[in-house]
Amino acid sequence: MPLFDYRCDCGARFEKLVRSWRDADQACPACGRDSHRLPGRVALTGGARPPAGPDQAPTSWEGTGRGDREYVAAWRRTLDRRERLAEKYPELSTKRDAIAAHEGVFEKAPLTYKELAQRSASSGDANQGAAEAGQARKAPSRI
Ligand SMILES: [Zn+2]
Repeated sequence: MPLFDYRCDCGARFEKLVRSWRDADQACPACGRDSHRLPGRVALTGGARPPAGPDQAPTSWEGTGRGDREYVAAWRRTLDRRERLAEKYPELSTKRDAIAAHEGVFEKAPLTYKELAQRSASSGDANQGAAEAGQARKAPSRI
């Protein structure tokens, strides 16, 4: 079965194995709406393929299922694997960090998966981590 990339209007991106390329667009795991298949990148089951990188990660808070703990953790693991692989294969490396949210309080200083993971480390809760990051954005800088 071919593996396809999908993108939803909410910002979520995901891969799905489908029976054939003629299969209809798939429901988004984050919001449930129909998503759009991205052209190109098709890999057959079992084929070697690097883990998804920052360019494929959801880039909005809604796209992460509003901080869905398992969805965010799965992306964090995927991005970590990609980063480790990029140490061996520089062509896989990406300069910028993947963005987990860019709306609202994060418009000027986007929330990266790295920061989200750091801020969620103690609570284990992505929503709490994002709330902390939001507070940090709002707090007046004390320099
Ligand atoms: Zn969606």
